[in-house]
Amino acid sequence: ASVASKISAGEVVERPASVVKELIENSIDAGSKNIILEVKNAGKKLIKVTDDGCGMTKNDAVLCIERYATSKLRTIEDLNSLITLGFRGEALASISAVSKLQIVTRPRDQSIGTLVEVWGGEIIDVRDTGCKEGTTVTVKDLFYNTPARLKFLKRDSIEFNNIYNIFYKLMLSHPEISFKLISDDKLKLSSTGDGNLLNCIKTIWGQEIADHMIEVKAQDRAVKVTGYISDRSVIRRSKNDILFFVNKRCIINKALYAAVLDVYKQYLTTGTYPVIVLNIDIDPRMIDVNIHPTKLELKFSDEHGIYGAMYNALNNALNPKSE
Ligand code: ADP
Ligand code: MG
Repeated sequence: ASVASKISAGEVVERPASVVKELIENSIDAGSKNIILEVKNAGKKLIKVTDDGCGMTKNDAVLCIERYATSKLRTIEDLNSLITLGFRGEALASISAVSKLQIVTRPRDQSIGTLVEVWGGEIIDVRDTGCKEGTTVTVKDLFYNTPARLKFLKRDSIEFNNIYNIFYKLMLSHPEISFKLISDDKLKLSSTGDGNLLNCIKTIWGQEIADHMIEVKAQDRAVKVTGYISDRSVIRRSKNDILFFVNKRCIINKALYAAVLDVYKQYLTTGTYPVIVLNIDIDPRMIDVNIHPTKLELKFSDEHGIYGAMYNALNNALNPKSE
C-alpha cells in the first residue's frame, strides 16, 4: 500500500472497534437478517463479520476495496452521508490497506461465490468459491504493516470493551436483525432479531433493568420519539447508558442530553444517571450539516425545538398526569 493510503486509512481505522463498526454497518446496509461478529485477541488477530445480506458479484467484490467505491446512493438528505461524509466508499479500502483482508461473498441469484484476498492493499487472490449467500469479511493481523499504529493499541481488555460498546449500540439500533458476538470462541452477546427493543435491552443490561424501563412514544410535529427510559429506581454511575439513535444512528447531541438530565434532575444526585434508549426519527433536513465526520456529534437546525420535544416526551412518560 502507498504511504498515502496507509495514512488516510488511519482516519477511518483507528482501532479494532472502528473496523467492527464499518463492517457491521455494511452488513446492515446489505439488508442482512443475521449478523455474526467473531473476534480473536480483541480483534487484533481476527475480526470476522458474517452476514446473510445481498452479497456481491465477482466484479463488485474486486471493486469494493478500491477507494471511493460505493454502491450506495448518497444525497444530502441521507443522514448516512451526513454522518459518514468524507468516508464514502473508503472503509474497505482503508481496512485492506492495513490488514490481511478476505471477502467471501455470493449474491442470492448466483450459484457460485467469489473469494478476494488483499494483503496490505495488494490483491493477492481472486477466485470462484462455493459459499452461502451473503458476505463474510475477515480482517486478520490489523496494522501488521503499520507498526506505529499497532503499538498504539491498548491491552486486549480495553480494545474488547471498545468493540463491545460499538456492538451493543448497533444491536440496539436494529432490533429486527439478529446479532451474535463471539470472542475467543465464547458467545458474549446475542439478540434474536424479533424486533423487540426491550428484549435487546434485557440481553444487554439484564432482567432487573428491563423490568424498570418505561416505554416512550411521542410525536411532536416533525419529531417522533420512541424507546425506553428507566424509572426513578434505576441509578447508574456512568452516563454511558444514555443512548440516542437519530434515524437509526447512535449519535451525541447536547440538547437531547440536557433534556434528559433536566427531566431526571429531581430524582438523581450528581454523578448518577438513568438508562436511556431512544429513537428519534426526524426529517434529515432538520439536521445540521456542519458536523465532523469522525465524531458522532450531531446538531439539529432547531436545537431548542428538539430540547422541548424531548423534554416533553420524557416528562410525560416519567410523570404521567392523572386524568
Ligand atoms: P460504503 O459503505 O461507504 O459504500 P465501504 O468501503 O464500506 O463503502 O464498502 C464499499 C462497497 O462494498 C459498498 O458500497 C457495498 O457495495 C460493498 N459491500 C461492502 N460490504 C458489503 C456486505 N457485507 N454486503 C454487500 N455488499 C457490501
Ligand atoms: Mg461502509
